[in-house]
Amino acid sequence: MSLTDTFGRTIKYLRLSVTDLCNYRCIYCMPEKGVCKKEHCDILSIEELTEIVEAAYELGVTKVRLTGGEPLIRRGILTLCRNIKEISPEIELGITTNGSLLPKMARQLKDAGVDRLNISLDTLDEEAFRTITRIGKLSGTLDGIHAAEEAGFKNIKINTVLMNGVNDGEISNMLRLTKDHPYQIRFIELMPIGEVKSHYCECFKSLDGLEEYLREHAQMTVDGVARVYRLPEHQGTIGLISPISHSFCSGCDKIRVTADGKLKPCLHSEEEIDLRGLHGEMLKTAIIDGVRHKPLKHNLDTEGSDAKRNMNEIGG
Ligand code: SAM
Ligand code: SF4
Repeated sequence: MSLTDTFGRTIKYLRLSVTDLCNYRCIYCMPEKGVCKKEHCDILSIEELTEIVEAAYELGVTKVRLTGGEPLIRRGILTLCRNIKEISPEIELGITTNGSLLPKMARQLKDAGVDRLNISLDTLDEEAFRTITRIGKLSGTLDGIHAAEEAGFKNIKINTVLMNGVNDGEISNMLRLTKDHPYQIRFIELMPIGEVKSHYCECFKSLDGLEEYLREHAQMTVDGVARVYRLPEHQGTIGLISPISHSFCSGCDKIRVTADGKLKPCLHSEEEIDLRGLHGEMLKTAIIDGVRHKPLKHNLDTEGSDAKRNMNEIGG
């Protein structure tokens, strides 16, 4: 079975937001005061999340990423991981996390079947880290990365959202990390969604300048939506993800589901399809319907994101 949209793109990848809550308050993602905790009955239960993954898998999805908010604060996250691997061990299961809870959870996540971790780290400077996350500690995330390695996770990806005047002076420090560590540092262009929309123009930094430098020093390969470079004699690699400067919509293979059960055919469209209360064939029909509604491309270049949510509700 395969899920194909009206433009011939095959959908294999489900990003599932398991909570909109977080223990950080990143300036590009969350309101400073945080968000009100939803009633338990307003977010998908572990059983409902499992059912959605099962239906998507039966329709052809083979890659699942748990995100949020911060997915590791979601109660039952380990059960969900085990459930997903029980649906099929062939599902590639990843988690995107701020890393702060990995020191106590990395081993359990590995044992529960998680294959891959993407850890967000925008700077190696303590003060800039505090400015960006508002309440986070750099050592928390660094300890998390080490705990993930100790637990046996390979091919760890580090997500770095680049912002003008905030962390663009940190590029060389982040590049240096790839010398002795086998990480892929993924520089991501800031997207004009939710929280950051009002001051987006001052903060946006294109990755084109960095790419020019990398092109002179390394060969490029492609890994999903990232253009990847390895500097000579570096163990790790550098990935560039440029949703603004180089839109990758033509190759999009993703659907997203929010923690309150809405399927989003595109990160940046307003359209949402409610999956709550649906089971079996009706759930599958709704997912197929969502895939049919995938737009050809986002309109970020002309109009900004149409999504009416902050990133913590969608999961990136
Ligand atoms: N809490 C987890 C974390 O920070 O990794 C998972 C959720 S977070 C919403 C997922 C990813 O989205 C993070 O790597 C974050 O940096 C990125 N992100 C959030 N807001 C963004 C924005 N406005 N533009 C680009 N990336 C953004
Ligand atoms: Fe939390 Fe991740 Fe959003 Fe930062 S980017 S506030 S860590 S959900």
